[in-house]
Amino acid sequence: MKSFLRTVRILPIFLLFFQSVSGKDRTRDPVRLPEIPGYTLLACDLHLHTVFSDGAVWPSVRVDEAWRNGLDVIAVTDHLEYNPHQKDVVLDNNRPYDIALESAAMVGLTVIRGAEITRKMPPGHFNAIFLSDANLLRTEDWRDAFREAEKQKAFIFWNHPGWKGQQPDGKARWYPEHTELLEKGLFQGIEIVNEYDYYPEAHAWCLEKNLAMLGNSDIHDPVDVMFDYPAGEHRPMTFVLVRQTGLEGIREALNSCRTVVYWKDKIIGREEFLKPLFEGSIRWERRKSALKKWESVHIPITNDSDIDVFLSLAGREEGFFLPGFIKVPANRTVLFEIKRTSGEGTGMRKIRIPYKVANYWIAPEQGMPVTFEFEVGLE
Ligand SMILES: [Zn+2]
Ligand SMILES: [Zn+2]
Repeated sequence: MKSFLRTVRILPIFLLFFQSVSGKDRTRDPVRLPEIPGYTLLACDLHLHTVFSDGAVWPSVRVDEAWRNGLDVIAVTDHLEYNPHQKDVVLDNNRPYDIALESAAMVGLTVIRGAEITRKMPPGHFNAIFLSDANLLRTEDWRDAFREAEKQKAFIFWNHPGWKGQQPDGKARWYPEHTELLEKGLFQGIEIVNEYDYYPEAHAWCLEKNLAMLGNSDIHDPVDVMFDYPAGEHRPMTFVLVRQTGLEGIREALNSCRTVVYWKDKIIGREEFLKPLFEGSIRWERRKSALKKWESVHIPITNDSDIDVFLSLAGREEGFFLPGFIKVPANRTVLFEIKRTSGEGTGMRKIRIPYKVANYWIAPEQGMPVTFEFEVGLE
């Protein structure tokens, strides 16, 4: 009887609890892209902060945000040398990872232990990820921090090289210290995108010096404060092309520069990876017949990916009028109009039209060339 009474008294409290947590379902928004043969694409954000340095949220909140934003992998990279919450939060660069790992296991997200080496320019800020003990990187001399990261077999990358806090004009600059680090094998990648910014200089360096391109949020505030997801915005992310899942697979892919950056409406990376992404995303009918002078054919072009494709004409075809600019929205079909302007010739005619994918950048702000092939019957 006593226990029954206790149950009756506790029950309403439980009901209240369940009501409050079931008010809004958590939903995930993955970015769907085509398969690239031989690889799995993992959506990663390898630079973010928590209350364990100057971030505004607890590590498990970062995991929840990442899962909702469709990420597969995050690296927790709190500052080593900047700890404004020290009075309230224990100074331990391993704790945020440990806490995140517990929540990540529940939703199947991969978490990487990292830390941000936070020094004045040069060399500036660098992330070291895949660490075994982040606290050992808290050293007097910045060179010792890099050496310790290398000892722990970290993947090290240069963060926001044109950050206005260190480069007021927003331009990334290469210093002798960066040559020194590169020659000693002490970093393997650069953020060409950080938060809202893109650094064309860094993009060029990655191509010249064979470094991995990264695009990360470097988020400090709650994600919804920074990126308006309902309005279609998204945090920057790095798609890593892995041969095998798990930490080793991610590390191998990063060291081999197999990354593609997704920033705003841009896809940025090496042509060898952007080409299959485009080919898997865009399909069109290749054959149309019966076209007289001044008649048009409308060829459906479909985008099967979650990312819009912008095409701009990069050449011409004698006897035909072609669209100068076409947007093929994500998961939609548009009609591509070919108008015949000449009455010469009959039978099937092959047309090869050069376009540039304006939002697929294979070099600084340079769209990727593609060719559309059609066969048109002339009457
Ligand atoms: Zn930084
Ligand atoms: Zn940071």
